[in-house]
Amino acid sequence: MNALETQLIARINSEGPISLADYMAECLLHPEHGYYTTRAPFGAAGDFITAPEISQMFGELIGLSLAQCWLDQGTPTPFTLAELGPGRGTLMADLLRATRSVPGFHAALQLHLVEASPSLRQVQQDSLKGFKVAWCESIDALPEQPLFLIANEFFDALPIRQFVRDGEAWREKRIGLADGKLSFGLGPEAPQPALEHRLLDTKDDDLVEVNIATAPIMATLAQRIAGHGGAALIIDYGDWRSLGDTLQALRSHATVDPLTAPGTADLTAHVDFEVLCTVAAGAGCNHSKVTPQGVFLERLGITDRARALAASLEGAALESLIAAHRRLTHPEEMGNLFKVLGITPAKTPPPPGLLS
Ligand code: SAH
Repeated sequence: MNALETQLIARINSEGPISLADYMAECLLHPEHGYYTTRAPFGAAGDFITAPEISQMFGELIGLSLAQCWLDQGTPTPFTLAELGPGRGTLMADLLRATRSVPGFHAALQLHLVEASPSLRQVQQDSLKGFKVAWCESIDALPEQPLFLIANEFFDALPIRQFVRDGEAWREKRIGLADGKLSFGLGPEAPQPALEHRLLDTKDDDLVEVNIATAPIMATLAQRIAGHGGAALIIDYGDWRSLGDTLQALRSHATVDPLTAPGTADLTAHVDFEVLCTVAAGAGCNHSKVTPQGVFLERLGITDRARALAASLEGAALESLIAAHRRLTHPEEMGNLFKVLGITPAKTPPPPGLLS
């Protein structure tokens, strides 16, 4: 039994069963034993690989899309260039390199990274040597000025609650103890006013997920963009509306039981794009169509970029570039599972690569 498991069991013994959101928050961000606080999990040697770690092309194309939005909005100066959950800082480093030739962009930007993990902040610092970086714990700390923002695989790492329908009420899935071990169970039946609309599209025993942090984060970011200008690109796996259990635990590229060895596996859930779009619209922003990642990258010219890079490569390096292009774009790889959403001020077209 690891230290976090011992602590969770003690907590459940004194407080009773905890919600899945509480469990995820402890596993991911516990100051001493949390997954993101204690390890650098991305990349081939880690537990999972993300798009920016697959190829530089990903961050470069995102950079050009955001820089074009900045040009189209009349080069507001200064502006915040922000990333939510930057991981190893690879995407931001590629974005900054690709936008060096955009006149005025680097002189006008103020770089802000929203990162909860102190150890990942250190990794990000090393990736972004030569740039002045300000870190913050929460999106609320971003300055009141134009905001150009990227979030790749950030919202999927936020804690969710799960509810199972029981007649006109819901029972929350919770983590309690069985034979002294962490175990899933259901809480008492209770009405959930926030899930009123889900009584229309679910039946008994259906499970729905609620990401408790998504709406407030999206509201803050959309208010900044509606009020001061800017654009956001949100890339994640998920769909229009959540139905069913999408909680996933990954360790060494394999799915594992989310309740064993807490804090040592990445825990994620699908992102509900309906919530992101509804909150953005409510704050006065335009949102694009939710677009498959492969389509978005193809529209931005990933194939031309791959050809240009291929010109100076051969052998294993060339093979690896071809594999990366396929992995990012092909519908059977990340191309379809991952979706892209663009947020811009009202009456402003979506970022390049997306349609309204
Ligand atoms: N965007 C990166 C990493 C994705 S993993 C990539 O594509 O490679 C999720 C990232 O979000 C990590 O950097 C993690 O530490 C950070 N994170 C998770 N929950 C967070 C929270 N509540 N606040 C701030 N950062 C968080």
